[in-house]
Order: sequence, then structure tokens, then C-alpha cells
Amino acid sequence: MVHNIHMATILVTNGTLIDGNGGVPVSNANVLIEGNRILFVGAADTVVQRIARGEAAPPARTIDAHGGWILPGLIDTHVHLMIEGVNIARDMQAPFSLRFFEAVHRMRRTIEAGITTVRDAGGTDAGVKAAVENGLTVGPRMQLSITALSITGGHGDGWMRSGREFQLLAPYPGMPNNIADGVEGARKAVREVLRAGAEVVKICSTGGVLSPTDHPDFIQFSPEELDVIVREAHYRGGIKVMAHAQGCEGIKASVRAGIHSIEHGIHLDDEAIDLMLAHGTFLVPTLLAPLSVIEQGEAGGMPDYAIRKARETMEAHSESIARAHAAGVKVAMGTDAGVMPHGTNLRELGLMVSIGMTPMEAIVATTKTAAACLGWQNRIGTLEPGKLADLIIAKNDPIKNIRSLELSSNIALVMKDGVIIHQS
Ligand SMILES: [Zn+2]
Repeated sequence: MVHNIHMATILVTNGTLIDGNGGVPVSNANVLIEGNRILFVGAADTVVQRIARGEAAPPARTIDAHGGWILPGLIDTHVHLMIEGVNIARDMQAPFSLRFFEAVHRMRRTIEAGITTVRDAGGTDAGVKAAVENGLTVGPRMQLSITALSITGGHGDGWMRSGREFQLLAPYPGMPNNIADGVEGARKAVREVLRAGAEVVKICSTGGVLSPTDHPDFIQFSPEELDVIVREAHYRGGIKVMAHAQGCEGIKASVRAGIHSIEHGIHLDDEAIDLMLAHGTFLVPTLLAPLSVIEQGEAGGMPDYAIRKARETMEAHSESIARAHAAGVKVAMGTDAGVMPHGTNLRELGLMVSIGMTPMEAIVATTKTAAACLGWQNRIGTLEPGKLADLIIAKNDPIKNIRSLELSSNIALVMKDGVIIHQS
């Protein structure tokens, strides 16, 4: 593309390029950025030649990657920015608005870890996203679900047999009620979350680990309810549905109903994997979530029922994800951050490699495939001309040691939308 009026450009030099497409890294690569878009990417000499030919303005600024690795801004497709650890006594006593101020730090830690985009799986309202977009606070690009819809007694229902309630996603202005039963109830709940600003609809279609009265194997939402949820979201400009789904039968019912992504996917059999392949369903493993529940349990911060359920599920979980990946199911990186501390998200990549993905496959799951899971593959996820300038520079070779990404101090620079928002 030839520009008549050149904007100021930024040239990133002296790094090895991992562009998110999964190909061989390109050493001594350059990335040229104009405004908030990528203009050219590739071997240093070709980018310099294009500037010499007048296809872009000479760079107003150069960023030296100091021999580091240049990657697309990383994407976590399953976080809860407004949650960090579950401590019922603490959370029952915290003043309501404290969560918003705590989220400021969590969003900064997320950015410092190299994550420039998240899909929030429940608990974050439209005002938090607006605060980041308006520049009031630093944070990742967000795709919001607002809340997670659940049946009465399901994974999203915090009613306890004491008769008390601990609703993790208690309604407030901007956060609709998340409990829905029956076809009409489910239809109305979808309409309410969309009205509140949901860009993806989150449901719980099976039980889970952190809920008091259910089990991961329980099916939640009937086929009729799932069907109306998927259709109702689709009518609003093709909005997708993501489902917390752990037990095998609930996963199959979700995939058959046209759910876009299966979150956790703990128990997958061959039929479930075949259904996911046939429907093109994404799998978001969150391998870090049960591990983190156990780690925190050992430190004394989790309810006993949650630790017990997490231990029961870990082995089956790893096996399921490994088989699904080997069969060719699309795996998008997601952590359930909020269950674990925000900013530790990239431990997930080490776990993905431990179940049989190559380091490059884990990176593609965190870039290109994650962007596709959000439906934002035309804007983010790879370093290619025309995409938004979201990129990071890692100090160490992530292909040699994927776990080097775990430490935020190994992330030298984070750029979002053409703006450097973190340097270390
Ligand atoms: Zn979650």
C-alpha cells in the first residue's frame, strides 16, 4: 500500500521475529509501525529497503530489541479481572467498590506479563473496559462476557446449604442477575447480558470445582435452553457463546448446540473430540486452574471441597487436552486467571508443553488461535501488515525455554495499539 501522507513511524530492530503464524523464527528482523498499525514486518534489510523506496516515512523513533524475541501481544482467552483468589470470609467483608481499585493492579500485572488482550469470562462490567479504553488506567484490550449464566444450583450459583449466599457474580447496576432457568428465563438472561455490553455470552453448562453444591460431571442447561442461548446470541450480530464445560456429556451437549468454545474440557472422550472437530469448536484448557487451586489449598486459602474436586480432575484433564490437541482440535490459550494471581498467566504455556504441544504450538495458541477464538483474527494475533500494533519483546528465547515467559521481568517491552505501555 502506498501512502500519500506518511504518519510518524516506529521501527523495532535487532530482534528475532516470532510472528504468531507458527513458522521458523526470523533472526535480525524489523517491524515498522505507523500509528497504531503494523506497516511492514520481516528481515531487516527488506524493511529498510522499503523505507528507502519511500513506501514509509523514515522512522521517527527506533526501538532496539537488544537481540530479544519479538512476538505478537499475547492473548488470554479466559480471565476474571475482578476476581483474585476465592476467600469467602474476606470477600463477604470487602466494601463493594474496593474490587474496582484492586482491578487496576491486576490489569497492570496482566500487561506487564505481556498479555495485551483478554477475554473476560465473567465479573467485569462495561465500565472497567471503558476506563482502559479512555486511558484512565492501564489494561489489556478486552472482550467481555459481563457475567456467567448458570442454572439454579449450577456452577454460577453461590447458594449454600447454610441458607446463606456467596454470589461471586452478585448482581449490581451494570451486572445483570446470572441465574436463569427454562427456555424463557435463558432467553431473557442472554438479552440482559447483551444489553449490559457482553461481546460474548458466557454460560456454565456443567458443574465445576469452586461451586458448593454441584459436581463437574453434572449437566447444566437442557438442550432446549442451550439452543435458545446460542440462537439468541447469534441474532445479535453473530455473538458467540463460551461454555464452562467439564463433564463429557455436558461438553457434547454444548458442542451439539453450537457453543463456540469449551472452557476447561476436563473429560473428553473420542465422541466429544470428533464433535468438536466437526463443529470447529475451540478448546480453552485452563490447565493452570486446578493446579493453582491445589497450590492455594496447600497454603490454606481454599475450601476443602474445592481442593478435593481439583485433585480428582487434574490427571483426567491433562489426558483430555493432550488427546484433543493430538486429534487437531483448535486449542486457544486460557488460564482462568483470577483463580490464580493475575500476571502469572503464562505458566499455562509450560503446562501446554508438558502435555505434548511444542513451544511454538503453545505460542500459536496464545496468539493466532486465541485471536480467532475471539473472532478478532483480522485485528490482532499475528505480526502482519495491517494488524494492530500489539507486540512484546521477550528477553529469552521462548522456543528454547517456554517457561522463560513466566517471569514478567523477562518481558522487556509491551506495546498495545502502537503505544509502549511497559518497559523493564
Ligand atoms: Zn473461569
